[in-house]
Amino acid sequence: MIRAPRGTNDILPPESYRWICLEALLRRLSKVYNFEEIRTPMFEHTELFSRTVGETTDIVQKEMYTFQDKGGRDLTLRPEGTAPVVRAFLERGLDGGALPKKLFYLGPMFRYEKPQAGRYREFMQYGVEILGSPSAYSDVEVIHLGVRIAEELGLLGTTLFINTIGCPVCRKNHREDLIKHLSRRAGELCPDCLARLDKNPLRVLDCKNEPCREVATDAPLMKEYLCSDCEQHWITLQSILESVGLEYTVDPTLVRGLDYYTKTVFELKWPPLGAQDTIIGGGRYDGLIEELGGRPGPGVGFAMGLERLLLASEKGEKPIEPVMFIDCFVVMPESEDQEVSQEIANKGFELLSDFRCSRLSGDFDPLRRSVRAQMKHANRLNAKYVAIIGEEEIKQGLVTIRSMEHGWQKQVSVDRVSDFMKEEVLGGSN
Ligand SMILES: [Zn+2]
Ligand SMILES: [Zn+2]
Repeated sequence: MIRAPRGTNDILPPESYRWICLEALLRRLSKVYNFEEIRTPMFEHTELFSRTVGETTDIVQKEMYTFQDKGGRDLTLRPEGTAPVVRAFLERGLDGGALPKKLFYLGPMFRYEKPQAGRYREFMQYGVEILGSPSAYSDVEVIHLGVRIAEELGLLGTTLFINTIGCPVCRKNHREDLIKHLSRRAGELCPDCLARLDKNPLRVLDCKNEPCREVATDAPLMKEYLCSDCEQHWITLQSILESVGLEYTVDPTLVRGLDYYTKTVFELKWPPLGAQDTIIGGGRYDGLIEELGGRPGPGVGFAMGLERLLLASEKGEKPIEPVMFIDCFVVMPESEDQEVSQEIANKGFELLSDFRCSRLSGDFDPLRRSVRAQMKHANRLNAKYVAIIGEEEIKQGLVTIRSMEHGWQKQVSVDRVSDFMKEEVLGGSN
C-alpha cells in the first residue's frame, strides 16, 4: 500500500467542515478590514526566498522543498507567503496603482520540518499584507485583525507581544554592540547561533535553546539604538494600540525569524497551547519591496498557521462544531416484482433529482439495501426529512414524507412533493 508522505495530512470529513468554517471566518473578517484575496503560485524561483527570507534563516538553510524542473530551473515550493505576494505586487504593476494595496492569501505552504502535533510539512497559512503604507496605523490595523480572529474563534486570554527591531540605519550600531556582547559569551551559545553570530546576531535572540536565551537576557536592547524615525514610529504605534484598547506587552527579545522585518514585530500568543503558543506572527518589512527590485516602499503584515489555529479552537470557548446534515433522504424499498422495483427506483431517483434542482441537499442508497438499512443510512447522514416512495405510494401517486426532527409523517401527491419540500426546508423563501 502506498502511504502519504511524512508530514502531510489528509483532511477527512467531519474535520473538513471545521476547515470550511475557519476559512469562511477568515474570508469574512478579511472583508471587514477590506483586504482583497491574492493567489500566487505554489512554487517560485528559489532565489525569491533565498534573497528575501535570508540565507542564514532555518527556512532557507534547512527547510525548503527545492527542486530542478525538466527545464533545469531552480524552483522551490513556497515556504511562506509574503515574498510571493510582494513579487506579484511588483511584477503585475500593482505598485503603480492606488496605494496602499491590502491583500490576503490563504493556501498551502511547504517546509521540511520535523513533524509534530499541529505541524506539518504541507500546512495551510492565512496572511495579510498592506503594501505602500508607512503609517503606524497600518501596523495596528493588521494587529487588530489578528486579535479579532482570535476573539471570534473564542480564544480568550491571548497576549500581544510587540517589539521594534529598527531599520538598517539604526540596526548597524546595535548590531556591532550585540556581536561584541555575544562574542564575549560565545562559549554558552548553541552551534546554530555560533554559526550565525556574525551574519545575523539578531537571530540569537530568537533561539529557543535555554543557554542562548540566558545570554540574550542581558544583551544590548534595540530600543536604546533607535534612529529618530524608528523611535517616532515605535512611540506612535504604542499610543494607537492604547487608543483602540489593545493591551500589549513589550518583549525586547522578540525578533521574528525572517530577515526582512524592520521596525515593528509582533506575536499573538495563546498560553493554553503550551510550548508552541504563538498563533500569529508578523511585522513591518520596509526593505522588502526594494530588495525585490521595486522602488523603495513600506509594507506590513502577518501570517498564521491554520492547523495550530484549529488546534487552539478545539481548546477554546467556541470550538468549531461541524454541522453536517442533508435536507432529504429518499428511501426506495425493493418490491418482489422486478418491474415495480425498477419503477420505484426510477421515480425515487427522479424525485431526488427534482429536490436537488430546487437546491435541497439530498441523497439515497444506490446499493438499495433493506428499508431498515436505508433508514439507518438516512440517520447517519443526519437527514432532516425522509421521502419514502414504495409500492403503495407508486400505486396511489403519493410520496410519504417523514420529518426526522419532529417525528410527523404526511403523504403528499407526487406532483406537489417538490414544492412541499421546498416550503418545508426553505420556508418558501425561494
Ligand atoms: Zn531606524
Ligand atoms: Zn541558539
